[in-house]
Amino acid sequence: MPKIERKTGWAVRHLSLRACLCMGFIFFTLIVSGLLWFSEIVLLERVYYISKMREVENTANTLAAAMENKTTEELHSYLTSISVRNQTCIEIFDSKGRALYERDVMDRKCLLHGRENSMYELLTLLGESKNGTIRLNIFNEQINAQTLVYGTLIQEDGQISGCILLNTPLEPVGSTVSILKGVLKIFTVILMLIGLAISFYLSSMLAVPIVRLTESARRFAHGNYNTRFEGGHYQEVDELARMLTYAENQISHIDTMQRDLIANVSHDLRTPLTMLKAYAEMIRDLSGDNPVKRNAHLQIIIEETDRLTMLVNDILDLSKLENGSMKLEPVTFDITARLTDIIARYKGVSEKMGYHIRFTPDTPVEVTCDAGKIERVICNLIHNAINYTGADKMVYVRQRNIPSGVRIEVEDTGEGIEESKIDKIFDKYYRSENHKREVVGTGLGLSIVKAILKLHGYRYGVHSQLGKGSVFWFEISG
Ligand code: ADP
Repeated sequence: MPKIERKTGWAVRHLSLRACLCMGFIFFTLIVSGLLWFSEIVLLERVYYISKMREVENTANTLAAAMENKTTEELHSYLTSISVRNQTCIEIFDSKGRALYERDVMDRKCLLHGRENSMYELLTLLGESKNGTIRLNIFNEQINAQTLVYGTLIQEDGQISGCILLNTPLEPVGSTVSILKGVLKIFTVILMLIGLAISFYLSSMLAVPIVRLTESARRFAHGNYNTRFEGGHYQEVDELARMLTYAENQISHIDTMQRDLIANVSHDLRTPLTMLKAYAEMIRDLSGDNPVKRNAHLQIIIEETDRLTMLVNDILDLSKLENGSMKLEPVTFDITARLTDIIARYKGVSEKMGYHIRFTPDTPVEVTCDAGKIERVICNLIHNAINYTGADKMVYVRQRNIPSGVRIEVEDTGEGIEESKIDKIFDKYYRSENHKREVVGTGLGLSIVKAILKLHGYRYGVHSQLGKGSVFWFEISG
């Protein structure tokens, strides 16, 4: 057996499951943290500015709508609530530039109402703007903060009826960003530690049964067919263990069969070869000049050679049938006539030895199959029935027409076959321990029957009762 290396070229080049999982989790952590850094730190200021601007724009639009459908009193209280809620200073002018409403939430420090307000510049910019709106981000020195200015013209029936100016402070995002940076650093480290812990746990859970199975597979590869393959933890490993156990059973079965095959073939070859040698020597040394004795010895040599030829032919035929090189040649023929023929041939020989073959035909029927091979199946079964039948030396062959075709049964009155052996008798070289040597056989007859019937796709089987005999059957269908 070739030496099994612990690590092959592939194994050396690949990382362990644990390393793969750790790397995967670290990679995942880095991606998650990177995304968080990007969204929280790089985009935060922009996103905040855009959402604040949208809020101010909405406020301006709501105010413009409110001016149309609310009474003056309602509008006053509405303006107050909106400016306080949104922390926004408001200034509304009519078309002549007269201030209509104003709200200040920055204590006279805003860009609209402050001591050094920029109202005039803002109104000029609004007047000059192309689409009637201005959006500005201006630093207010009085409150020492960035502020947002939004201005829009109010239109009524295509005419400018006034304008709205809003000013709101922007929260300093810089300090928030630096706090977030600190938090994110801790978050990244914690995420990485959790990732590593999970990957360690997962890799142990995944790897332990695989390592165990690899060890068992190594023992199995060294020829220990009693190795137990244990699954565990997850479904795929259970399935792998089941398949390895199945493979082990199959290989062990094949191994046993192979040993039996060699033992049987060598045994079956040795006996006739020994006889051939012995009788050839006898002719050379003793009976060469005695024609009667010489002929008797030569007859034995011929019979033993026939036995050898039969064995070798069976081995060759079976291997051809099994490796698919023997093809079926289907023809249509009358099975009843063929059965009558075969039995007539057997009767001549067997009745001389006291055997009786009784054939029960059904109405003649035509079948389409490989006639030669099916004849071989019938002959093998009759041959076995003659060999194994009981003291009454009876063999029954029956033809029964069934809806799917024809069922053929060959029955004997012999000792029968034990229930536990029934599955084995169709195996190559299986011969019951108590078979009689005078029963000529190679242990291949039923394997050839099985191979031919399988090739045709026909059903077959055996019913046997200990002490009463066996019925071998098959069905020619389709
Ligand atoms: P062989 O007859 O050469 O031993 P087979 O493959 O034909 O080989 O049969 C295999 C085994 O099946 C036989 O050794 C015998 O034990 C059993 N067997 C086959 N046919 C019969 C039968 N009619 N009655 C009892 N046992 C049988």
